[in-house]
Amino acid sequence: MADALSPLEQEIRRLIGVAGPMPIAEYMRLCLTHPRYGYYVNRDPLGAGGDFITSPEISQMFGELIGLWMAAVWRQMGAPENVRIVELGPGRGTLMHDALRAAKVVEGFRSAIVVHLVEISPALQQIQERRLAELDVPVLWHSRFEEVPAGTSIIVANEFVDALPVHQAIKQDDGWHERVIDIGADGRLDIAAAREALQHFETSLPRALRQAKPGAIYEWRADDFALELGRRMRSEGAALIIDYGHDHASLGDTLQAVAGHAFTDPLRAPGKADLTAHVDFEALAQCAESMGARIHGPIRQRDFFLHLGIEKRAAALKASAPHKAADIEIAFSRLIAEGARGMGELFKAIGIAAPALGPLPGFETPS
Ligand code: SAH
Repeated sequence: MADALSPLEQEIRRLIGVAGPMPIAEYMRLCLTHPRYGYYVNRDPLGAGGDFITSPEISQMFGELIGLWMAAVWRQMGAPENVRIVELGPGRGTLMHDALRAAKVVEGFRSAIVVHLVEISPALQQIQERRLAELDVPVLWHSRFEEVPAGTSIIVANEFVDALPVHQAIKQDDGWHERVIDIGADGRLDIAAAREALQHFETSLPRALRQAKPGAIYEWRADDFALELGRRMRSEGAALIIDYGHDHASLGDTLQAVAGHAFTDPLRAPGKADLTAHVDFEALAQCAESMGARIHGPIRQRDFFLHLGIEKRAAALKASAPHKAADIEIAFSRLIAEGARGMGELFKAIGIAAPALGPLPGFETPS
């Protein structure tokens, strides 16, 4: 049987054999970023024949408005001569490409910036290099956020945090147990509950969730990313994080696997599907705030882009390319529509910025 298993599944089984059942977060980390077999390491999940599509790939308006947002924030900072524009998980480089093209209209902005891209995938890094080469701005790559040098920065990330490993715990009669990956009775990978209950877990939960019933599932991510973001933003700079998730901590299993634009079982074919989980914006905000940053939002993606003027932008694009008007309309409504089919409601935007910066564009209703 072992011969039919992928090298990554063999490795995961070996690790379980040596160290025992593996937390879901560790499984997710290996599936996505194992240096040889990880999902993101080898492929372009967004390209033709890819697995999923993201907002910047749906419409240029997404990146353009974020570009104007970055330039507005830069001005609000007093138009410093040197600023780092950082993008976390830039995918195919589309957001940054559209952003910098649009921000050309803001005098002085492009000559003040150095772009830093945080990308773990060598395959995507190559695509980004090609994509941004024509823009004539300096671009540097890092595989980890911590490697980006400190200093005044404007950070953006779309669908990055959902790919960071998530832990799960399940409530049982004797307390909360971490959910782990084990080898089931049928010999296949399976989700189980760790034998020992997590110590003092209930008291660390948000108050509203402490009375959860047996069977309830709670998800959390390691604090390090949010702490790092808050630490970097507390005295200068601003970050814009867009992702799907909930604005208040809640219960439920949101781990999902997507391949070929369809949901699949997260335990089958590890490393061959994208694995993600909803972002808990409340937890992210609390961590970043505890480091001294100020939090803006979270608000729905729909409201953020309406505040930034996406309706006007769509009208201008339609006027300049009438033969594409129907496509522009479809993209526009996908980005801002409410309900399960649109991205306007499930996706949220949160700003994390230096308190001295004041209100951030897009987070307040424009007057
Ligand atoms: N922001 C892009 C791509 C989203 S997919 C878009 O909106 O289209 C997630 C991106 O994050 C990919 O570029 C992936 O390679 C990168 N990524 C995922 N986990 C990462 C990690 N731990 N460190 C750095 N980059 C990561």
